[in-house]
Amino acid sequence: MRLVLVGPPGAGKGTQAEFIAAHLALPKISTGDIFRANVAAGTPLGVEAKRYMDGGQLVPDEVTINMVRDRLADPDAADGFLLDGFPRTVPQASALDKLLADLGVGLDLVLELVVDDDEVIRRLSGRRTCRGCGKVWHIDFDAPTHEGVCDRCGNELYQRDDDKAETVSERLRVYARDTAPLVDFYGAQGKLVGIDATGPVEDVTVRAIDALRSYGG
Ligand code: AMP
Repeated sequence: MRLVLVGPPGAGKGTQAEFIAAHLALPKISTGDIFRANVAAGTPLGVEAKRYMDGGQLVPDEVTINMVRDRLADPDAADGFLLDGFPRTVPQASALDKLLADLGVGLDLVLELVVDDDEVIRRLSGRRTCRGCGKVWHIDFDAPTHEGVCDRCGNELYQRDDDKAETVSERLRVYARDTAPLVDFYGAQGKLVGIDATGPVEDVTVRAIDALRSYGG
C-alpha cells in the first residue's frame, strides 16, 4: 500500500504513523524526522531546513521534493510506504503524483487526522521529545515516570523549538494556508478518508486501521 497521513501539527501523525506502518509492515517516511536528523548531523540540508523549521515555516518545496524523491528510490519503499508529513502543499502533492506515475504506481489512500485548533495547541505545548530515541511524551497526557527523562531509553527529553507557543500559532496558520487545501485535492481524487483523531491514542489507531481495512488495506 502507498499511504499518506495528513493533519495539522499535533494531530498525532508521527505516533499514528508508527503504529500503522508497523501494523501494515510498511516503511514510515517522515519528512520532519529526516529534516531533524539532518539538523542534528549538521548537513547542508539540515542547515538550510533549520532556518525554516525554527520559525514554523515550511522548507521550500523544491528542497523537500528532492529529498523525498531520493528517499522513495530506496529499495524498502519499492512496494509501499507510509508518508508522514509529506506532502504539505499542493505543489508537493502534484510532484508526488507525477513521481509515482513515472514509476507506474499511485497512492492508494490519504488518511486525514481531524483535530480542532484548541486541542492542537494543548497537545503541542505539552509535547516533549526524547533526544535519544525520538519518542514523543506529553507532560499531561502521557508523562514519563521521571520528569524530563525518557522511560524507553533513559535519555533527556526536550521541547522542540517549533513546539514553543509563539511558533505553534504560526504553524497552524501555515497549515490552514498551505496544507489544508490538500483535503480538497485528495478529496477530488476520491482518495481521502477522514478520521476523528481525538481521544486515546489506541482508539485513534483502531479507527485508522478500520478505515484502511474498509478501503482495502
Ligand atoms: P513535523 O515533524 O512533520 O511537524 O515537521 C517539522 C518541520 O519540518 C515542519 O514544521 C517544517 O518546517 C519541516 N517540514 C516537514 N515536512 C515538510 C514538508 N513536507 N514540506 C515542508 N516542510 C516540511
